[in-house]
Amino acid sequence: MARETAEERALRLDLTELALAEGAPLIGGVPERWLQRPRFRCTNFHVADRYSVGRRGRISCIFCDLPVQQTFPEDRSGPLARTDGGLPALRTRGDANEADESHRAQYSSRPPR
Ligand SMILES: [Zn+2]
Repeated sequence: MARETAEERALRLDLTELALAEGAPLIGGVPERWLQRPRFRCTNFHVADRYSVGRRGRISCIFCDLPVQQTFPEDRSGPLARTDGGLPALRTRGDANEADESHRAQYSSRPPR
């Protein structure tokens, strides 16, 4: 297994925390609903529903080729949002519209590229 960078480790711990917070049985380390609509996040804040496969079979980002980890279905590109409690913000299907609004507000303040 390739060496894990500090950023990859931090992302892995955040995503593990999120997976456990859902309180559902884990399959391969993630809740089943994550597997139904798989999304993948790299340490460059890219999120996509696809990944590329490197020579060693490691899955990597389709944008920047860094290793990716499976993330929750509502995740979108940008910093992993955190709540005040320190847990990454979790958006559920029920408040999808509201989440979209706050998502736009959060990311519209980013400087243009
Ligand atoms: Zn990337």
